[in-house]
Amino acid sequence: MMTTPAPELGQIVEVVRARPRFVISSHARPDGDSIGSQLAMAYALRDLGKDVRVINQDSAPPPILSFPGVGGIEIADRVEGSFDAAIIMECGDLTRTGVAGLERFFVINIDHHPGNTAYGQINWFDSSAAACAEMVFDIVRALGVPLSVEIATHIYLAILTDTGSFHYSSISPRTFDICREALEAGVDPVLVARNVYDSNNMGRLKLFGAVLGAMRIGGSGRIAIVYLDHDMARDAGGTYEDTEGLINLPLTVKEIQTVVFFKQIQDNEYRVSMRSKGDIDISAVAKEYGGGGHRNAAGCNVTGDIELLRKLFIEKLERAIELPESPA
Ligand code: 5GP
Ligand code: MN
Repeated sequence: MMTTPAPELGQIVEVVRARPRFVISSHARPDGDSIGSQLAMAYALRDLGKDVRVINQDSAPPPILSFPGVGGIEIADRVEGSFDAAIIMECGDLTRTGVAGLERFFVINIDHHPGNTAYGQINWFDSSAAACAEMVFDIVRALGVPLSVEIATHIYLAILTDTGSFHYSSISPRTFDICREALEAGVDPVLVARNVYDSNNMGRLKLFGAVLGAMRIGGSGRIAIVYLDHDMARDAGGTYEDTEGLINLPLTVKEIQTVVFFKQIQDNEYRVSMRSKGDIDISAVAKEYGGGGHRNAAGCNVTGDIELLRKLFIEKLERAIELPESPA
């Protein structure tokens, strides 16, 4: 499938060719797409002989720690030193990195989330990409860097996780074209899946049990509400990081159309994650509370009484379920 390449792609290639030192960052609490996009890019730049540092505010989620290059990611909330460009992946605005000092550099902003604020000197966003790594794939190709098994593994990891294991409506034929090329480059999809999904600790399983045991159902059986606070995590012997992926489980029930997951930050401050099936768009609900995301996966932070918040989000999600089909 041939489409006209975005003009920003050419600009990125030009800057990469001309400049030697790069810092790559992504959002706080990185996920598979942030890590995969960053490291695929880092490997490609290093192949071209560039000086590359990857700096994030938070470490990669535990299942991703075993992937190549993850150990080389620096964890810091400030970037020191000088670079010829900062490549920012997956961030609607620069503060989402949680890393101070990036604005000092020539910023290349690469993102697939709607609502990107175009904070860079180059801004490339493509909300039709199922993962930011689909865009990185295009950059790697445009740079003429061979698709090494490390680059291909990170691109596949990003797509696998950001599509919810090929569940979300963001998937396109292009997604599978890229995955096919990744496999041809030597990616072992069985090994990637085992590392991502089947490498858990017992605390995580017990925590899943506790959270799902306390799950409530609203919206005439179509909305699942899950909740976690620090006491529950400690009692189960798990951590907040261990909840990665938990939010998708209620959606495995046929009738459940949306899930909202409240995680206590402290006192009555909560991190809210939401998921939905098919055409149900929950990103507007997240945006209403200062967050954002995609049609099927979005999040925000809220403060208030948890019982009232549960009621409020059930109402909002009921409305989202009942809205007429949104355009793809
Ligand atoms: P999660 O529920 O996994 O934290 O986030 C789901 C999706 O929503 C991700 O694509 C993430 O980038 C986006 N998202 C989550 N929280 C926020 C937020 O506070 N602001 C914005 N702009 N996007 C968010
Ligand atoms: Mn993403």
